[in-house]
Amino acid sequence: MSTIDDVLRANAHYAQQFTLGQLPSPPARKLAVVACMDARLMVDQLLGLQPGDAHVIRNAGGIVTEDALRSLIISHHLLGTQEVMILNHTDCGMLTFKDEDVRAKLHQLTGTATVAPAHFHAFSDLDENVRHQIQKVTSHPWIPKQIPVRGFIYDVKTGRVREVTTASPA
Ligand SMILES: [Zn+2]
Repeated sequence: MSTIDDVLRANAHYAQQFTLGQLPSPPARKLAVVACMDARLMVDQLLGLQPGDAHVIRNAGGIVTEDALRSLIISHHLLGTQEVMILNHTDCGMLTFKDEDVRAKLHQLTGTATVAPAHFHAFSDLDENVRHQIQKVTSHPWIPKQIPVRGFIYDVKTGRVREVTTASPA
């Protein structure tokens, strides 16, 4: 029995109680979140979001990749979101390795190099990483300048979110 079989059974129960079939596609609270995929982050729960409230774009590290930008641009221009949150977290796996080490290891393991992924986007400073992601959004010509883009770090030990200051250290 696989976990997929287990979760499909859970979905059968979910569908029996389902009452959200009338929700519209545009997020009700006009919010887009770019968050790490870490399994401890229940993004909707930790931010008090309900189904239909927000777009949550997730990947390893909560990185504003080309694909995250694609989603953010669609989120704003086609589905009306007006604010962007970047959400990283303490104890992130992306702090534990360096791109070149993983690349070398995988090359050795498989005996082949690849074109993609071009980057794994590992990082060594959480606050700095969040600031970089904010800059990637705010500097994009297709994201209007009046859209607030704010960055946060979720503490996996306390459940608390704190804002990352955008002012670069003097
Ligand atoms: Zn993470």
